[in-house]
Amino acid sequence: MKALKLDHVGIAVESLDEALKLYSGLLGLELKGTEVVEEQKVRTAFLPLGDTEMELLESTDPEGPIGKFIASRGQGVQHLAFRVDDIDAALAELKAAGARLIDEKARYGAGGARIAFLHPKATGGVLVELCERKA
Ligand code: ZN
Repeated sequence: MKALKLDHVGIAVESLDEALKLYSGLLGLELKGTEVVEEQKVRTAFLPLGDTEMELLESTDPEGPIGKFIASRGQGVQHLAFRVDDIDAALAELKAAGARLIDEKARYGAGGARIAFLHPKATGGVLVELCERKA
């Protein structure tokens, strides 16, 4: 497989409103939109920046992945997302190569993207997301 670009940087925040004061207010990024992703128990905000985006993630449930992340590690960079053109092929290739995956099959993320995570224990502590989107 071949990663095409850094699709977005996922940042866990306690409050989207507070985080937007920094990213939108002080740093001048434009807020493209917000979305609740029920399956992930998060409310997200997307802020395009050049050829990539910042994805702010606020937990809607302490038991969700972002709630647990903040409880154990605090706010901060949570994942890096790499764009691929065919996530099914990429996952099959990674699996065949013996890579550890959290998601063996792609699921839906914010913005209608198809996403899957690699296991951070096998990627040097960086949670890597693969992301396929038609845009
Ligand atoms: Zn993401």
